[in-house]
Amino acid sequence: MEKRRIACFLAAICAAALLCACAPQKAEETFLAMDTVMSVTVYGENAQEAASACRAETERLEALLSVTDEQSAVYAINHAEGQPTETDGELARLLSRVLELCGRTEGALDVTIYPAVRAWGFTDGEYRVPSEAELAELLTRVDYSAVSVRDGTVTLPAGAELDLGSTAKGYAGDRLAELLSGMGIESAILDLGHNIQLIGTKPDGSSWVIAVQSPFGGDYAGTLSVSSCAVVTSGGYERFFTDENGCVHHHIIDPATGHSADSGIASATIIGKSGLVCDALSTAVYVMGAERAAELWRASDDFEMVLILSDGSLAVTEGIAPAFTPADENAEITVVTR
Ligand code: ADP
Ligand code: MG
Repeated sequence: MEKRRIACFLAAICAAALLCACAPQKAEETFLAMDTVMSVTVYGENAQEAASACRAETERLEALLSVTDEQSAVYAINHAEGQPTETDGELARLLSRVLELCGRTEGALDVTIYPAVRAWGFTDGEYRVPSEAELAELLTRVDYSAVSVRDGTVTLPAGAELDLGSTAKGYAGDRLAELLSGMGIESAILDLGHNIQLIGTKPDGSSWVIAVQSPFGGDYAGTLSVSSCAVVTSGGYERFFTDENGCVHHHIIDPATGHSADSGIASATIIGKSGLVCDALSTAVYVMGAERAAELWRASDDFEMVLILSDGSLAVTEGIAPAFTPADENAEITVVTR
């Protein structure tokens, strides 16, 4: 009897040891950065070290790119009053890429939108509705094409200010993916606040399943089965206030009007290899509206999209349609084709 119990005990220990040997190491880090809650989950050897490195790298990027931190390189550029600023090489390269994306979206993305964003109170939470005259004056300072980046020197016209809020998290996703792959990590999911960056597949080799949030509250709108890519969503429901007349104003500004974008899109989810491109385009597509976004998609080969329109219908580009499952099987879905 005693022998049988010892045998069972040993068998249980062996089974547990075997399970530990098979299951990959997993580490999670949750932290506040770039004005949002971020959470990284990393699998594999050195998982904990890798997760901690993600946090440190994100904090480094925040210190470089923050628009409010008086020590940041962006702050220095914004306060140069028209004078050239010799800046950090990484920031200069990022800014060049962002300016390209502003051009590609015909200014729907405008990295100089900051004066308008601040006037509405989205920077400090002191919300207000600027007058049309004030907005018109502010818009004279919003023009990405007036930004010059040359040999690591950035020059803005006096009164112009950069805002990398629409792209910093996506860029961080790319940097973290690179950092993790350099550490030999083949499986990780980085949730950088509505910016998901996926490294490889789940540890068992299957695709990750990412929920696309419903912009109308309640349950999610659908799921995406994807791997090794970024999934970035922009929506007016993320940061907004209601004014005394009951009008809702949110944090994505149409550079053409200075007001919250009102293009008929409730949320724009962009899927692609680059977190930076997806983040930039999620903001831009939200401003552009479904038709212009479809034209941009037809002229491009680096992203797919899931748009939830204000009337609740969905538009999904053909490259991602097979990977998308709507939560409501009766949902009205248009597949956008080339
Ligand atoms: P979130 O940061 O909430 O995930 P986005 O990536 O869409 O959402 O970025 C929105 C932020 O980008 C705003 O808070 C503001 O700082 C900035 N922004 C707003 N409108 C524009 C625009 N048209 N072009 C570039 N940046 C914008
Ligand atoms: Mg964005």
